[in-house]
Amino acid sequence: MTQKGVGARLPRKEDARFLRGQGEYVANLRFPGMLDVAFVRSPMAHARIRGIKKLPGVFTADDLKGVRPIRADSSLKGFKSSEQPILATGKVRQVGELVAMCVAPTRAEAEDLADQVELDLEELPAVVDMLAARTRPPALVHEHWGDNIFLESLVDDDLTEVKRSAAVCVKRTIRTARQHMSPLEGRGVVCEWNLRQGQLLVHTAAQMPHINRAGLAECLGLDQGSIRVIAPDVGGGFGYKGILLPEEVALAWLCRQLGKPVRWIEDRREQLSAGANCREHDYDITVYADRGGRLLGIDCEATVDSGAYSSYPFSACLEAAQVSSILPGPYKMERYRCRTWSVATNKAPILPYRGVARTGVCFALELMLDAVARELKMEPHELRLANLVQPGEMPFDNITKKHFDSGDYPEAVRRAARLIDVEKYRKRQKQQTDHRRVGVGFAIYCEQAAHGTSVYYGWGIPMVPGHEQCTARLTPDGVLELRIGAHSHGQGMETTMAQVANTVLGVDPGNVRLVHGDTGLTPYSTGTWGSRSMVMSGGAVASACDIIASRVKAIASKLLEVSSQDLILENELVKVRGTDRALSLTAAARRRRPGGAGGDGGLQSEGRHRHLQLCLPCSCGRGGYRDRWGRNPRLCDRRGRRHAREPDDRRGPDLRRRRAGRGHCALRRDAVRRAGPAARHHARRLPAAGRDRGARDAPRAPGDAFALHALRAEGHRRGRRDRAAGRDRERGQRRARAARRRDHRVAAHAAAHRRSDPGKEMKSQAFDYARPKDVPEAIKLLEQGGKAAAGTQSLGPMLNLRVVQPSLLVDLRFIPELKACSENGESIVLGACVTHAQIEDGKVPDPTGGFMREVASNIAYRAVRNRGTLGGSLVHADPAGDWPSALTLLGATALIAGTKGKRELPVERFLKGVFETDLGENELLVGVRIPKRSKAARFGYWKFCRKAGEFPQAIGGALTDPERKETRAVVGALQAAPKLFSALNPDLTGIGRDAYDRQLHRVALQRAVARVIS
Ligand SMILES: Cc1cc2nc3c(=O)[nH]c(=O)nc-3n(C[C@H](O)[C@H](O)[C@H](O)COP(=O)(O)OP(=O)(O)OC[C@H]3O[C@@H](n4cnc5c(N)ncnc54)[C@H](O)[C@@H]3O)c2cc1C
Repeated sequence: MTQKGVGARLPRKEDARFLRGQGEYVANLRFPGMLDVAFVRSPMAHARIRGIKKLPGVFTADDLKGVRPIRADSSLKGFKSSEQPILATGKVRQVGELVAMCVAPTRAEAEDLADQVELDLEELPAVVDMLAARTRPPALVHEHWGDNIFLESLVDDDLTEVKRSAAVCVKRTIRTARQHMSPLEGRGVVCEWNLRQGQLLVHTAAQMPHINRAGLAECLGLDQGSIRVIAPDVGGGFGYKGILLPEEVALAWLCRQLGKPVRWIEDRREQLSAGANCREHDYDITVYADRGGRLLGIDCEATVDSGAYSSYPFSACLEAAQVSSILPGPYKMERYRCRTWSVATNKAPILPYRGVARTGVCFALELMLDAVARELKMEPHELRLANLVQPGEMPFDNITKKHFDSGDYPEAVRRAARLIDVEKYRKRQKQQTDHRRVGVGFAIYCEQAAHGTSVYYGWGIPMVPGHEQCTARLTPDGVLELRIGAHSHGQGMETTMAQVANTVLGVDPGNVRLVHGDTGLTPYSTGTWGSRSMVMSGGAVASACDIIASRVKAIASKLLEVSSQDLILENELVKVRGTDRALSLTAAARRRRPGGAGGDGGLQSEGRHRHLQLCLPCSCGRGGYRDRWGRNPRLCDRRGRRHAREPDDRRGPDLRRRRAGRGHCALRRDAVRRAGPAARHHARRLPAAGRDRGARDAPRAPGDAFALHALRAEGHRRGRRDRAAGRDRERGQRRARAARRRDHRVAAHAAAHRRSDPGKEMKSQAFDYARPKDVPEAIKLLEQGGKAAAGTQSLGPMLNLRVVQPSLLVDLRFIPELKACSENGESIVLGACVTHAQIEDGKVPDPTGGFMREVASNIAYRAVRNRGTLGGSLVHADPAGDWPSALTLLGATALIAGTKGKRELPVERFLKGVFETDLGENELLVGVRIPKRSKAARFGYWKFCRKAGEFPQAIGGALTDPERKETRAVVGALQAAPKLFSALNPDLTGIGRDAYDRQLHRVALQRAVARVIS
């Protein structure tokens, strides 16, 4: 922690103006000729509009020609759209709904005008109770729906067995009341028309300026660029300012209509009577447990009162989606079924109040746990301890696939019980003789933060929240300007973002200027909500500052004539480590161009933070969303079996699809991205690492660990932008085939010449190609500077990125010896060019009774397995590769041939480090010998992958052979070669990059061991 960086306690920068009353809120804005607006609102919950007596200065729905109603749809199947009119049309559906807009020079006059508007309303039966609305509706809120249900969803499971075997079954109905949030500053909007730019300027007290802009553009039929939304200082949000208001649309239209600035400032009466509410839930829950208090299953039917309309952009099923996906929380259970209804009533719509639905859900579940504890005569906290995920089980995907990456929940309960001294209270309760009641209550909740895109996609909400950007500029005068799209409405982000910059760049927080809350000046953002700003925008700020830091160091390293690795950034200085030599940040920023003192643009960068979020929650609704493998997670039970409703077209022979969700593949689901990607700038470092190098492998620079990610990602899930390059590569291969026929030089550059687009060239350096017929010939070609090529699955990306630039490629795949397999009583030998697919398909002997087949089948995807080879994997020595770990576990021996003859080496000695083996320059790996084990031998293997088909983050392997008294364990995917142990519970201290990484490896090993001893 730096003195002023993240975690330090600083006076908030923004407080200097807030405490002096110098904050600038929407209500403080004054523009020449500005008019005030007051609204005529519905006094009834449900009524037909028979007539409105208008006066000059009063506008009704008939006037708003071409303005579209607010529509917040969910893409979930079965969702019914509501259209929230800007001014009521036909009928009113809630108290406070806008009916007419009155404009006058002052608010008082506008209100007088509103008083004179006469409404002729025919009252209709109001839909007030959500259960009645669903089951026996007194009326329909939206007649054309035929019922009052926005969306019905089901997370299904079979509880028959649980019902039969449960010792306890507790059933309760729980209701929570509607809640309303009330920030100090209400909502308000001021619109002005900028003639010069032809742009509508909307100043509004909002949490999500860019989203408001999108909604306004949709309703007004304008392009987004013609609207600029500015959210100045905002006095509290809590979700209340996280939706698009009809008032905003109405004023935007009025401003364009009149060509004058207009404003509306919400008063407290409007806020309390007409503003959106939340959290009105009804739960019908049954919990099943065994005699020891272990939860067996939960069956829940939940109804959420969603009010009259779906709020933009979150939609009316937001809370119900939360209910079904977060109800199980950090508890373990066998079965879970949850049906939800988002119901329309004649009340204000719902919005994303902080911790959306969390309190109601938590209240319901924890009450149920108390009830189960009472039934079993257990201490409530003991019951919780019996069901919480244990630290050793982390990372943990709960039954709705919510991912818990770390934490010790039981310890939190134990500590609370200790501090409360539960025993003492029990005694006191027994002794209490007067009317007073003394109680102890326990409740746990785990809040989600910084939702990733997958969560919102799963809920059918058309937002991409897992992404934030920052533009940073270090100006020549030493001030750092940060532009972010998130918005601060009381969180003190001007200070916290400056602290992030201080931590990365050493710039004083006083010299950081945060620009936010203005779509005209900041990068696109989905705004501030869901505890996302510090993770997402903070991550983007760190990433942008990181880029500037590396540029500053590069400049300083030239000026100070030292390596940039010896430089540190501290207190506005770039210092040479261990000396008193330093350069100010300002000086570095000014020296951007030769002789550029003053007048220069400083240093600018763009950083971004992406958050994919691993949990693919079961979520609500049916159909619609499918994950990356085409599976619909909602239709799978917790073991990933397909639900009977899964349509037939998804039942193809695609093995991966069927397998996803089970065993290793269950672990291949997206993992929470723990740090920002910055993949692009890592990738940018790569060419530099390999530039100007000859035919030999480029030595790896420190920090290449980052580059490896890009390298591994090369040939895989390439973005659209890479297509041309991809075609280039294919061409290269075609050329290579042609060349094989002619048996001479492959002109990769010739391929480029043949192309119609001469501006683009192949990615790899030109190389010769040879196809030796046996091992001695291959070795000879290596002596001539050749580079061995097997499946080219790893070599291809290295060539593309020019990490290697061989002048000759020696294709080993046609050497019979390297594809041969042999077997004797003790061992088998597999040739180096045996492919993963051959092992997977059982086409070569497997001395491990299927273990090797299983390992092979979980490498990447079939296309990679078809070409990738056992030998290539081992020689490439990617620490995250499967064979380095698996062959180390199996006690395999590498068989090597070279100019000096043949030699053998145990795999654990063959692998020397990250991408490093004992293989000499002119040596080939010819094959691998794997010892046979007794019939009693058991093998276990487990790996955690961030995404299906990608290299794992952690590998664990275990082997026991009781007859031969042999026990081996391996931990792989380290920043080193795999580590071999001779016990199943080795000491893993010091393993992994940090505590999280260590835990991943620990769990991978435990799971591998569990397979051996189960
Ligand atoms: C998208 C993608 C995902 C992947 N995911 C995984 C995964 O999850 N797990 C995993 O284990 N692997 C994974 N891989 C890697 C894959 O297993 C490759 O097959 C393997 O890394 C290299 O094998 P190869 O035959 O393609 O070797 P090549 O790419 O041809 O060669 C790799 C290196 O080994 C050298 N070499 C090859 N054979 C010999 C030999 N006989 N003697 C001397 N040197 C030799 C080459 O010169 C080169 O330096 C993935 C690859 C891709 C493209």
